Amino acid sequence: MAERTNAAGSRPVVPLEHLGSNPNPGVISHFRIKTLSHLQEDNLIMKLVVLRIGHRPVRDKRITTHVGLTARALGASGMLLAADDPKIKESIDDVTRAWGGDFFVETDVNWREAIKQWKEQGGMVVHLTMYGLNLPDVTSEMQNRDLMIIVGAEKVPPAIYDLADLNVAAGSQPHSEVAALALLLDHLQNGRELARTFEGERREIVPMRKGKRVIEMT
Ligand code: SAM
Repeated sequence: MAERTNAAGSRPVVPLEHLGSNPNPGVISHFRIKTLSHLQEDNLIMKLVVLRIGHRPVRDKRITTHVGLTARALGASGMLLAADDPKIKESIDDVTRAWGGDFFVETDVNWREAIKQWKEQGGMVVHLTMYGLNLPDVTSEMQNRDLMIIVGAEKVPPAIYDLADLNVAAGSQPHSEVAALALLLDHLQNGRELARTFEGERREIVPMRKGKRVIEMT
C-alpha cells in the first residue's frame, strides 16, 4: 500500500481507497471529507467529524449507533469511535450502503492522538457538554472551521475539557448526546443539512403528506 504523509508531515496517512481497513488501529488513517454544495453556497465550508468517547460495548451500542446515524444524516463526514466495537461500524456502513453518501466510521481510535492530529491539521476541537458555553452564543465562532465534535457517554476524562478549544452546551441542562449533536449540527449549518441529498443511494424516500413511498434503485 502506498503511503503519504499528512499536513504535519509526520504520520502516515492511508489513501482514501483503503477506507474501512485501518491497518494501524488506534491511529486515524485519514479524514475523508465531502464538500457539500449547499454549504459552499452559504460560504460555510466545514469538515465535521464526530469523536465518540467513553463508549461501553453492549450498554452503549444503540446510542452510539444513533450518534453515528445522526452525524451521517445531518452533514458530518464521519465518526471516530474511541472503542473497539466493529459491530457499530458494520451497522452504520449498512445504512450508508443503502441510503448513500460516503460517511466513514473508524473504530479503535486513540482519542488523544486523534485530537492532536486534528489540531495539527488546523482544525478546531469542540466538546459537547452541558457545562460549556451555550450554543447560540458561540455558533459563529465555530462556523467556517473544520470541527472535531467530541461526544461523551457516561463520564468524560477531565483532560477533554482542557484539550477542547471550546466546550459547548446545547442548553445548560442534562439531556442526550444524540439531541446535543443534532442541535449543534443544525445550528452550524443553519438548517440546510436537512435539504441534503446523498449520492449513490439504493433507496430514496419520496416525502408524502400521508403514507410511505420509497424508490428502490435497480
Ligand atoms: N455530565 C454530562 C455532560 O457533561 O454533559 C452529561 C452526560 S450525558 C449522559 C452524555 C453526553 O451527552 C455528554 O458527554 C455530552 O456530550 C452530551 N450532553 C448531554 N447533555 C448535554 C447538553 N445539555 N449540552 C451538550 N451536550 C450534552
